[in-house]
Amino acid sequence: MKTFKQKKTIALVAHDNRKVDMIEWAAYNWKELVYHNLMCTGTTGKLVQETLLQKCQENDVIPPEVIRLKSGPLGGDQQLGANIAEGKVDMLIFFWDPMQPQPHDVDVKALLRISTLYNIPVATNRSTADFIVSSKLFHEQYTPIIKDYSSYIMRDVNL
Ligand code: PGA
Repeated sequence: MKTFKQKKTIALVAHDNRKVDMIEWAAYNWKELVYHNLMCTGTTGKLVQETLLQKCQENDVIPPEVIRLKSGPLGGDQQLGANIAEGKVDMLIFFWDPMQPQPHDVDVKALLRISTLYNIPVATNRSTADFIVSSKLFHEQYTPIIKDYSSYIMRDVNL
């Protein structure tokens, strides 16, 4: 069973039309984010890293670790999904674009699916993301309940 440590790994992804939202959100919540590890798709990670670095320099605080995966359409969403399946990600802030189809729409769907399967908190808009980082649970240990899939794994496949 996976237990969220107090120091969490937070995944951040924003589609191009939502990147300003992500930068503003990260700047607004920088004090909550600096104590955790961040794992981002490539371009989102670069922008978030720059935003937090500036805040940290202004306030003389050590900046957080930012793991940058590949850009989303180049496999970054899938890398993130693999990390979630391996229990290496505690929550996902995913500002996807509701107004434009993406070349990697199937990856977007897969990322949302795997997050649901592993029962990690997911925010797809700024207000939900604000509620997540301001939750009392954000600073505590937390064990998400994972459905028991053993009967599925042991199923008879009629070979
Ligand atoms: P990006 O990818 O952060 O590299 O732009 C985001 C996405 O489209 O999944």
